[in-house]
Amino acid sequence: MWRICRNCLPTRVRLKDKGVTCPIDCTLCTVGSEDTLHLFFQCPCSLNVWSMLPFFSSISLLLQQDMDSKNIIFKALHDLSNEDAALFCCVLWSIWKQRNNKVWNEVIDTQVYVVEREKVMLHDWQDARRFCNTSCAQPRQEGNVKWIKPAEGRFKCNIDASFSQLSNRVGIGVYIRDDTCTFVLAKMEWFTLVCEVHVGETLGLLSAMEWVHQLHLGLIDFELDAKKLMDSFSSARQDVTEFGMIIHNCKTIFEQYYVNSSVEFVSRGGQKN
Ligand SMILES: [Zn+2]
Repeated sequence: MWRICRNCLPTRVRLKDKGVTCPIDCTLCTVGSEDTLHLFFQCPCSLNVWSMLPFFSSISLLLQQDMDSKNIIFKALHDLSNEDAALFCCVLWSIWKQRNNKVWNEVIDTQVYVVEREKVMLHDWQDARRFCNTSCAQPRQEGNVKWIKPAEGRFKCNIDASFSQLSNRVGIGVYIRDDTCTFVLAKMEWFTLVCEVHVGETLGLLSAMEWVHQLHLGLIDFELDAKKLMDSFSSARQDVTEFGMIIHNCKTIFEQYYVNSSVEFVSRGGQKN
């Protein structure tokens, strides 16, 4: 969003201004010129997305006021409730993703999907925030275990599970900090508990390892409080169960991408399994 406000988002009009040889017609509707005002607020495709949201009437009023995209964003964030403002930001992100999917992947996202994606994004972000606030925001003292920062030049990735009996889901929070204890990145994923809890946790570790590898952060260590998972991860014993197969996949990724890393168990007192 700050790139829209600073007019440095690489829309086609912006690229043309910078001397790039490219068409300037809108990727989505092919009619207007693709600058930020058109792409996010005037394009019929984007207007259709906005019209599916509960605060469309507020946005519609703003769009009648002859403002540029930066001022529309500032005014919307000022006028909307916190909840709607958060969704507003996700809509911008999802429209830009829709545009990029068409440019780079030749994939046409339906507008219903664009709306659903922003809601999922907002939900995940809120989950990650809740997870960070309740579990990791502070270097923690749980039971008699204190979170220890990674060695100089390294990152630490804590993986933590939470369980919702109500929705029968296991949530996996992944939280990365650097050697000054500064938050770097977080991610939250949910698995429906068609599997046992320790299987859900292991899927979480697998997903975290794949995600962290794509971030190219450098040296990183993993830490989690799932004892059964850790025992199996450290064991050379073959396990042909579903759990064993996922552990095997974790080990494969670990050996492939994390030769200078560690996966360690840290007891947090209220161990579940
Ligand atoms: Zn358009």
